[in-house]
Amino acid sequence: MQSQRRARLLKALDLEVWARRGAPRIAAADTASVLDAPSMADYDQPEADVPPAPAPRTIAPRPAPRPQPPPLLLVEPEPVAPPYVAPADWDGLAAAVASCTRCKLCKTRTKTVFGVGPQDASLLVIGEGPGTDEDQRGEPFVGKAGKLLDEMLNSIGRARASNAYIANVVKCRPPGNRDPESDEVAACRPFLDRQIELIQPQLVLALGRIAAQRLLGSDAPLSKLRGPLHAYGPAKTPVLISYHPAYLLRSPGEKAKSWLDLKRVHQMLAKSEAAAR
Ligand code: URA
Repeated sequence: MQSQRRARLLKALDLEVWARRGAPRIAAADTASVLDAPSMADYDQPEADVPPAPAPRTIAPRPAPRPQPPPLLLVEPEPVAPPYVAPADWDGLAAAVASCTRCKLCKTRTKTVFGVGPQDASLLVIGEGPGTDEDQRGEPFVGKAGKLLDEMLNSIGRARASNAYIANVVKCRPPGNRDPESDEVAACRPFLDRQIELIQPQLVLALGRIAAQRLLGSDAPLSKLRGPLHAYGPAKTPVLISYHPAYLLRSPGEKAKSWLDLKRVHQMLAKSEAAAR
């Protein structure tokens, strides 16, 4: 009875009644016997139109896994410090130099040596670094070599008090008057670059091998660097190289060549100053 009711219900719902494969399709009216739970024996009957089960597939053995390269170690990149930007005005720049701790020279200096001269000088003279006297006084080229430099400049009508600015590649004295090291020069470079940018000299005169090499980023000997007119920085400021006055004190025989360089400096400046008038 129950089965007949279900069959009627299915028919009323317009549902088709499905029977086990192989069994005759049953009309909805006859579904009672189909919807009654089949016995397991029903399923055990062989089915005439069922194809024989395929033979079990033999599975070829997998090839041995290829050796893999060791996994890459993902190392966190070191945070890169933003490049140092030197203050853009004279007062800020002088204060930054006075309190600078950007390299190890700050630990042994007495005074920083910023530079001296008019801020609009057409000639900028660059030495290598302060010595003992300069470290004590806080002014560049004030020892014996400085005296000679003043005489050399005077001979072409120049002076630190009027028309020549004097600075060094590093603003602090290297201990024992050794050459400034590359990290010290690099740490100090933004200060020198800002000085050059503010002064806008017509000509830079770099004195001695160390100043010349450090400024131009070259390892060529002085004999090669002296002679050609170089260009420095984005403004391509003209640069001449000559002998360091301390060297001229030791080798006075070279003063004649130094004099040739000074005359060239004078001629170049006279020309550019005349053109600017
Ligand atoms: N030598 C330099 O190169 N600079 C100075 O200031 C003094 C000596």
